[in-house]
Amino acid sequence: MANAQNGAAPLAGRRAAVTGSTSGIGLAIANALAAAGADVALNGFGDAQPAIAEVSAHGTRVIFANADLSDGDAAEAWVREVQAGLGGLDILVNNAGIQHVEAIETFPNDKWNAILAINLSSNFHTMKAAIPAMKAQNWGRIVNIASAHGLVASPFKSAYVAAKHGVLGLTKTAALELAETLITVNAICPGFVDTPLVQGQIADQAKANNMSEEQVIRDVILASQPSKRFVPPADVAAMVAYLCSEAAGGITGSALSIDGGWTAR
Ligand code: NAD
Repeated sequence: MANAQNGAAPLAGRRAAVTGSTSGIGLAIANALAAAGADVALNGFGDAQPAIAEVSAHGTRVIFANADLSDGDAAEAWVREVQAGLGGLDILVNNAGIQHVEAIETFPNDKWNAILAINLSSNFHTMKAAIPAMKAQNWGRIVNIASAHGLVASPFKSAYVAAKHGVLGLTKTAALELAETLITVNAICPGFVDTPLVQGQIADQAKANNMSEEQVIRDVILASQPSKRFVPPADVAAMVAYLCSEAAGGITGSALSIDGGWTAR
């Protein structure tokens, strides 16, 4: 496993996989890792071609491996496919996630199960499949994209909040299990980032609260974010790239907030 260790391409020679990287934060992460010199495996639903073209522009190797990661066996098989495609795996970013906003008493069971499966259980399955080879090479970086909702709750987001709190527990447990290796495991807790997922929540929250979408942005979504600004996807991605660097080798088991002051309240 080569790593040039130079300032221009600090992740040169590293092989990275980012779940849910066809849009939003995951696509920004894939771009940041490729810009830092890593080869990258993309994954996600929808037309992957625009994401493949965008990330390929950085000049490193880009592959796409399709899988519905809410299926545990498929998630583990996806890691094996990525390892074969890239010749190994040094960096795993668990980013794929979905949301549904509704009161507990009417929250559909299938939505609960789907959110727990993709937002929490997929992280377990991909880590389970990736860790043995990372241990064998004694180097790895695992970054789980949690949320401010991994630290605090909001009404009508029971499954999402439960899953993201679970991601932080899983992250801490894995970090402790791997603490004496050169594999770090961390979580990032973004506040509101302007992505397709949030655009969907704006519509759902408007329905749940009987408000206009403009009111929801001002009084509901950014009401909890003291900065009153969405976090740019590229800023979350830069945090991931830092956690994947050599300089971040001492950071493990942490939940890093990037939330415009949300959890400072
Ligand atoms: P997004 O909807 O733009 O992207 C989600 C990605 O996950 C897409 O590529 C989608 O295809 C993929 N995906 C969904 N279900 C999948 C499945 N079963 N198998 C494989 N891929 C699947 O969302 P986003 O806003 O970029 O969110 C990315 C992550 O960041 C999520 O985990 C989300 O919870 C978290 N997050 C987002 C925000 C925000 O404000 N946008 C804030 C905090 C945390």
